[in-house]
Order: sequence, then structure tokens, then C-alpha cells
Amino acid sequence: MVRNFDLRGLSDLEKSLLRLVKRPISLTITDNTHSMIHIRPSNSGYNVRLHHMFLKADREVLRSLACFINGRNKKAPRLLRDFVASNHNKIRKAPGKSRKTVIRHQGRYFNLKELFDRVNQKYFANKIACHISWGAKRLVRKQNSIKLASYSDRNKIIRINPVLDRGYVPEYVVTGIIYHEMLHHYLGVESRNGREVAHTKRFRQLEERFRYYADLQAWKEKNLHRLLGR
Ligand SMILES: [Zn+2]
Repeated sequence: MVRNFDLRGLSDLEKSLLRLVKRPISLTITDNTHSMIHIRPSNSGYNVRLHHMFLKADREVLRSLACFINGRNKKAPRLLRDFVASNHNKIRKAPGKSRKTVIRHQGRYFNLKELFDRVNQKYFANKIACHISWGAKRLVRKQNSIKLASYSDRNKIIRINPVLDRGYVPEYVVTGIIYHEMLHHYLGVESRNGREVAHTKRFRQLEERFRYYADLQAWKEKNLHRLLGR
């Protein structure tokens, strides 16, 4: 769950790290209690998990972090350790059961933020201000139903099921699912006779404005069983 911190610096953080490290980075922002920085090499670059305190890091700290990423085996530089120590108040006290991953844009095949930005520009005149992230990975066993995405009005976050991060999933499918969730943010939830209605007539009308709406429905019909692991 997204707690009370500001994720607006996320795109800047991603860009800065990419520029400083000079290799592809898949960044995950966490709310971990123990591991503040976790670096794992990937095919062409690094998978980096950072505590959300780094959203507020200044240039000097980021430069130090980039050095640490590129020379993984060395001890973390002094500056970095001092930064973590001085931000200890941002670290959650009780581990509890809350979700540790807060935001992850980059998947193996799709970068959700890029797709979100494109949909936002094309269909919403860049007016949608909410977060987007891959959801937590769960073991996919044979299932009968699957939730491909969700929108939390409380946290203003769209979560996309990581089962969609596959090579055989066309981009318009992920884009269309993002569009659907953005509509939830855009329209909100109506209350009718005390019941909350999300998929109103107006919602369905707007949903059909997605350019590949028919293709999306057809694809889902044909391929859902693959996503379900059947
Ligand atoms: Zn919906």
C-alpha cells in the first residue's frame, strides 16, 4: 500500500539514475524495513530496489548511489550510509504484513509508466494524476479467474497484474487495460441506492473509445486461459 509519502519524484529519480549509471535500470521503490538498497545484475543492466527515502535524495547522494551500483562489491560509500542513517525516521517500525513493494514501472517487456503517459496524452489531455505499478508477483497455479488490474481510489494507484508482462501479450492489451483503470480514476465511483457502481453506462461508452477496444476483447477471450496457467 502506498503510505504517506510523495511519489512525484519517481520519474526524475529514474532518469537521473539512468544518466549516472549509464546502463539500463529496472527500478523498484520499496517500503522495506531492512534492505534500503538492493542491486542485482540483469541481462543488460541492473535491477535496483530502493527504499522510498531515495525519492528525496539530492544529486550528491544519487551520484554516490550510482558509483555503488556500478561497483557492486564494494562497501556502500560513506555518504550513502550517512544518508540512510539520517533518514531512519522514514523507515517503517513494525514490519507487519503490508506490501513491501510500492512502485515498479519497469517490467521485462513493458514499462508501465511509458504506456500510462501515452494513454494519458492521447485520451485524457494529460489530466490524469495517479500512480501505476506492477502488482506483487504471486505463484500462478491453475485458476478459474484472474484480476488483470485494479485501481485503488484511496491510494490513487493502478496495479497491473504481472502475468501480463509476457512476450506474447500485445502492447495494445496492456495499454487497453491501463486505459480501463484510468477511466476508474477519471470517473470515480457512483453511488446508486447505496451501492457503489463503477462500470456505469457512461463508463462503458468511454471504454469503447479505446482504439483497439474490439481487438482487446477478442484477445482476452482467446488468451485468458494462457494467463490463468491453463
Ligand atoms: Zn473496472
